Amino acid sequence: MSGITIALSKGRIFEETLPLLAAAGIVPAEDPEKSRKLIIGTNRDDVRVVIVRASDVPTYVQYGAADMGIAGKDVLLEHGGAGLYQPLDLNIARCRMCVAAPVGFDYAAAVRRGARLRIATKYIAVAREHFAAKGVHVDLIKLYGSMELAPLAGLAEAIVDLVSSGATLKANHLVEVEQIMSISSRLVVNQAALKMKRELLQPVIAAIEKAVR
Ligand code: ATP
Ligand code: MG
Repeated sequence: MSGITIALSKGRIFEETLPLLAAAGIVPAEDPEKSRKLIIGTNRDDVRVVIVRASDVPTYVQYGAADMGIAGKDVLLEHGGAGLYQPLDLNIARCRMCVAAPVGFDYAAAVRRGARLRIATKYIAVAREHFAAKGVHVDLIKLYGSMELAPLAGLAEAIVDLVSSGATLKANHLVEVEQIMSISSRLVVNQAALKMKRELLQPVIAAIEKAVR
């Protein structure tokens, strides 16, 4: 494919990316929330945007179906980053990855006792590494959404999830018991495309970098 294909997800990443793309002179022709199109043209004939699930962005870029994309650090850690060049932290879609448990559950005491904990999460790789580094024994249960329900329904004792304001945790009688890492979204570029299409991609990366600063 000639030209540039950029993979983005709908919602906060698309919205927070618009000003960065604008700084690079790229304006999508449509709002993906309104149109149902998955391929969106831009003001530039040689640039198009493909709309994919947030967790699918690294995969599209890895295989070169998109030349570049924007994905959360959470998603990149689960993907592993193979085939991806990650030149920029964009400082958008900021939140944190944390362990949360029901109000009244003494997480610290359970960890001290060496109890085996059941943890529900969408972020198996991050959770596995976090608990292994602490020497905490866990059974990880993979979920695809609404992690907050798991402790309430008796599926798990705690969850690993993303938090920004904490309002969703609070509404479900959960509290953050441990922070794992802060999260923001990164620009990812296909490593082969960066070499083959350098003259097209480099100015876009440079303009986005300047806008982030
Ligand atoms: P899907 O909605 O397709 O299941 P998703 O929930 O991961 O996927 P978004 O909610 O758009 O998709 O989140 C995209 C990215 O934004 C996440 O990968 C994460 O990096 C970041 N993010 C998630 N939740 C928050 C939040 N509450 N505040 C700020 N950034 C967030
Ligand atoms: Mg979401």
